[in-house]
Order: sequence, then structure tokens, then C-alpha cells
Amino acid sequence: MANRYQFDVPRVLVTGGAGFLGSHLCERLVKDGREVLCVDNFYTGRRSSVGHLLDDPHFELLRHDVTFPLYVEADEIYNLACPASPVHYQHDPVQTTKTSVHGAINMLGLAKRLDAKILQASTSEIYGDPAVHPQTEEYWGNVNAMGPRACYDEGKRCAETLYSDYRRQHGLRTKIARIFNTYGPRMHPNDGRVVSNFIMQALQGEPITVYGAGVQTRSFCYVSDLVDGLVRLMATPDEITGPINLGNPVEKTILELAEMVVRFTGSGSKVIFEDLPVDDPLQRCPDITKARTTLDWQPKVSLEDGLRETVAYFKWYIERGQGSPREQRQAELHAS
Ligand code: NAD
Ligand code: UDP
Repeated sequence: MANRYQFDVPRVLVTGGAGFLGSHLCERLVKDGREVLCVDNFYTGRRSSVGHLLDDPHFELLRHDVTFPLYVEADEIYNLACPASPVHYQHDPVQTTKTSVHGAINMLGLAKRLDAKILQASTSEIYGDPAVHPQTEEYWGNVNAMGPRACYDEGKRCAETLYSDYRRQHGLRTKIARIFNTYGPRMHPNDGRVVSNFIMQALQGEPITVYGAGVQTRSFCYVSDLVDGLVRLMATPDEITGPINLGNPVEKTILELAEMVVRFTGSGSKVIFEDLPVDDPLQRCPDITKARTTLDWQPKVSLEDGLRETVAYFKWYIERGQGSPREQRQAELHAS
């Protein structure tokens, strides 16, 4: 359906576009011939993550906090703005909830004004510490509303409610992707997530910090696969609203991941065991039947191949050192 702002080239707004997933999504959309407006307040994202796109006439970067209203034009909106690592989202939990809830209200309001399609980057954290395994979209979840992860989990759950109500009440064209653990180049080296932590520790000869006994499981999706799933979901007919799980259904224990990282880096690092964080989910694995049938999507990149790419990125990141912002940009350009 055409809207009053629609031109030949679809204009796409990506909030959180300077973050890990957002930067890869912006890159993909520019490659696909879209006009991309990347909006970010640089809370966890970095200008350098989209540095290689800054000279592209089809790409624009705007500093803005989505907890405040935004007045721009777009045909499609991907709402990714929100810190995703437990360390980052627990640093300022009130702001995390505001980003998910006020951010959703502001972006849904924008979509309503523009009659734009809007996609929410939701999360497997919706399922909390799941009692159903693997997790299907029908499962309602098991979340502690008052624990340290709740600012993120409940914020994202409330955002899903808002998307559903804007659709029912205002006829908005909404899509919800429930993203499972995703990794790859441009993850923040200090964001505390398990893949970046283990690789940085291994490459620097530091102990690999496994929390608990390392028997908890996660399923790791490579970033290019995940971005492809998001783009496919956005392109579906209006009646496809989700939620749809996007993730790699190959499940690993955290100890298995630590061993793989040590092997792939050739590191002499030893594994040490630290306390398990409060409310850390014991198991997590997506049932991706819906994504397979509705989007004709499934991950293509194996954990082995994805880890090799990610290790290469972090090696490059460590070797290049800091340098001036200009030198960093040159280095990013060189690597891309
Ligand atoms: P990230 O922290 O790298 O990126 C988030 C981006 O949002 C950053 O650039 C940050 O600066 C920006 N941001 C944060 N608060 C903002 C605000 N108030 N206004 C504007 N920008 C703001 O995280 P990511 O891994 O790229 O995750 C992106 C999205 O995907 C998040 O919404 C996250 O919840 C979701 N997600 C990610 C994963 C994953 O494994 N990477 C899993 C599930 C869900
Ligand atoms: N983890 C770990 N060592 C680390 C970082 C994380 O053992 O240095 C564990 C963490 O306790 C969790 C899993 O790895 O069980 C995934 O953690 P992450 O923060 O990447 O994402 P989560 O899925 O918990 O949001």
C-alpha cells in the first residue's frame, strides 16, 4: 500500500543503527539500494561501526535518544535501539526500561503518523528462564518481574504489548522478531557478552571466565544470518506480524563454547569458574519452524565458521590499537 511519503527508493529508519546488529543491518540495507537513516544516541554503539558508510550518499547518521519523540520521514522502521548485553542494560536499568517502553511508544507514534511498517527487535529474554524447550512463539515465558534482568525482559515484553495494541487499535503494520543470542564482528569488545568476553580473554591470554558450572546452554546465530531474517520479516505481507523466533537452533553449553574458543584461537588460556549471575537462564534454544515456513529462512553459517570470522575481527581490533578517530575510520574502511 502506497503512503503519502513513499518515493521510488524506500527510506528506512534504523534505530540503534550504530550498534552491533544495527550497523550490519544498515550495511545490508544500503547494499540493497535503500535510503538509510541511522539513529543512535551512542550509549553502547559507536560511530566507527558505521564509519565505512558515512560517505555513502544513501546513508545518514543522526544522534538522537529514542526516549524523546522523533520527527523524520521513512517508509519502514527497524526499532533496534536498546542495550543488549546484561552488563550494559543493568548499568542503568531505569533508562533501559525507558528505552524499550518510551522508545517503542515514540517509534510506533512515528510509524502511525507516516503509515510506515515497523519491526521490533524483541528478544528470547521474553521467555525468561524457560520451562518449555526448545522455545516456541506460543510459550508465554517465565520472567522474574523484579530481578536484575527485568528492566530488559519486562521492557521488551511491554514493547511487544504496545506493538500488538497499536496494530489492533490503530491498524499499524507491525512485525515482531524474537532474536536469540547473536554474535559476530563489531560486537563491543567490553560488552560482557559471552562470545566477545571469551574471545577477548583467549586472545589476550587471560583466564576464560565461565559463570556457574558452564552447563547452561545458549544457541548462537551469526550476524549475517540474523540480519537476513530481519530483512525477510520486514518484506512479508502485512498479515504476517510475528512474533517470529530468529536464531540458530544448534544448542551448546557455555563450557563447550569456551573450549571451542580456546581451540580456534590457539590460546593457552585456562578456564576459571565464577558465580552464576542472578536469574541466568539455564537453557535457551529457538524452535524456528515458523521462520522456516513463513520466511523460508534458516541460518547458513555454522558456529565454527562464524567463530573463525569473529576471532579474526577481534584479532584485528586488538592489533590495530586505538589511534585517532580518523585513523580508526581508515582502519575500519580497510577491514570492510
Ligand atoms: P548494541 O548494544 O550493540 O546496540 C544497541 C544500540 O542501541 C546501540 O548503538 C546503542 O547506542 C543504541 N541505543 C541504546 N539506547 C538508545 C536510545 N535510548 N536511543 C537511541 N539509541 C539507543 O546491541 P545489539 O546486540 O546490536 O542489539 C540490537 C537490538 O537487538 C536490541 O534491541 C537488542 O535488544 C536486540 N537483541 C539483540 C540480541 C543479540 O544477541 N545481539 C539478542 C536479542 C535481542
Ligand atoms: N557467561 C559466562 N562468562 C562470561 C559471560 C557470560 O559464562 O564471561 C554466560 C552467562 O552467564 C550466560 C551465557 O554465558 O549463561 C550467555 O551470556 P550473555 O551475557 O552473552 O547473554 P544472555 O544470553 O545471558 O543474555
